[in-house]
Amino acid sequence: MTKKYWNEEIETLPLNNLRKLQLKSLQEHLEFAYQHSPYYGASFRKHGVLPSDLKSLEDLYRFPFIDKKVERDRQVASPLLGDLVAVEEKDVVFVSASSGSTGIPTLSPFTKEDFYEFQDVESRLFWAAGMRPTDRYVHALNFTLFVGGPDVIGAQNLGALCLWVGTIPSERLLFILKEFQPTIIWTTPSYAWYLGETAQKQGINLHTDLSIRKIIVAGEPGGSIPATRKAIEELWNADLYDFFGISDIFGACAGMCDKKDGLHLAEDHIYVEVIDPGTLEPVPDGQKGELVFTTLRKRARPLIRFRTGDIGLVNREQCECGRTHARISVTGRIDDMIIVSGVNVFPSDIEYVVRNIPSLTGEYRITVVEENHMTKFDIEAERSVHANVSDEYLVNQISHLTKTRLGVKPRQVKVLNSGELPRATHKAKRIVDLRGYKVPKEKVEYFEVKKYDKNRSVVSTGQLSH
Ligand SMILES: [Zn+2]
Repeated sequence: MTKKYWNEEIETLPLNNLRKLQLKSLQEHLEFAYQHSPYYGASFRKHGVLPSDLKSLEDLYRFPFIDKKVERDRQVASPLLGDLVAVEEKDVVFVSASSGSTGIPTLSPFTKEDFYEFQDVESRLFWAAGMRPTDRYVHALNFTLFVGGPDVIGAQNLGALCLWVGTIPSERLLFILKEFQPTIIWTTPSYAWYLGETAQKQGINLHTDLSIRKIIVAGEPGGSIPATRKAIEELWNADLYDFFGISDIFGACAGMCDKKDGLHLAEDHIYVEVIDPGTLEPVPDGQKGELVFTTLRKRARPLIRFRTGDIGLVNREQCECGRTHARISVTGRIDDMIIVSGVNVFPSDIEYVVRNIPSLTGEYRITVVEENHMTKFDIEAERSVHANVSDEYLVNQISHLTKTRLGVKPRQVKVLNSGELPRATHKAKRIVDLRGYKVPKEKVEYFEVKKYDKNRSVVSTGQLSH
């Protein structure tokens, strides 16, 4: 097969037709949610909006936001699946779960049709990243309740030879890479780096002993940080593609094409807004803000104006690859953001700095402290074994580049020896927060909600905060 797109008609739909399609889908989806989801029915009425009020995509601003907390609270109020759900449990065929900071996993349900469409989107993104039926693909993501687990079916439906590997010890994974000579692997950027380093320590030549030619990464911003991407690509002599997904919608909602200038979002399934997380007002295209996603088709649990907690930007200009769907770039989580002298600092900014200094290994750790009621941060980084410059030089470089990029300096920089910082095997924890308190999140809104039993009869009413 030599086709350029998985679904040419949808992926290259002229922009005005794409917007028309989104508007029609959104109108139907809002109506569906209003009619079938007890939560949305109550919430829309409470906010005085009806699905018929949506005459254009811009009218979506009139509808209320939801976030992870609403999702979790509504699930607790109406187990198992919560009352955001718009179908009966008998129509649900799959749930993924994500554990949050509270320890209560939030479930993401799919109908049979949702699941089919989810996998078709995954095939589309794999195809855009260059996967073809001739590829051997290693799916090295967690299979236990994780929404990224089933993405392997998307690769299989595309025709690739799929190895359902999951998260296994590195030695075993390297054995599989040697024995099966796969061409594509998907993992996190931290793990791609760790695995490459581990292979080298075992005497494996990544360029000649293995056949990996593409690495798909997700779960951390690294794949979209040019210096990180380049470092992993050089380590493996492979092409790196960044994907982005959220457990509440699809394993991957967006992915890079070969132009690698942002991640094409499946805009026939998701409508994206970018807002200022403080004022909740929209920010212009190209400017950073919180990504807000609205599903356009997912029936089991529609998500209307879901605040993802991810900070990023959107580019709606047409890509050189011919795809018309918007490209997003995700730079970090709101939760990981620290505010230093009024400047928003993300771990990805520090990663950008340390990956651009050749005498460092690229590993880093940020420690956040409070000093005289001011938030400050320290950076630890590692000198590479090949470095022939002084620690003092490296400290100054890190400090200077951080100041240049962010406008603020770290309080302290410490240079460690290679291997001293802990290596992440999956999602890297780059921030240690030693402050005594956290800046409170936006104010809480209360409104009345009803509690339902499993037959969806009202059993109590109460106040819900979110
Ligand atoms: Zn493109």
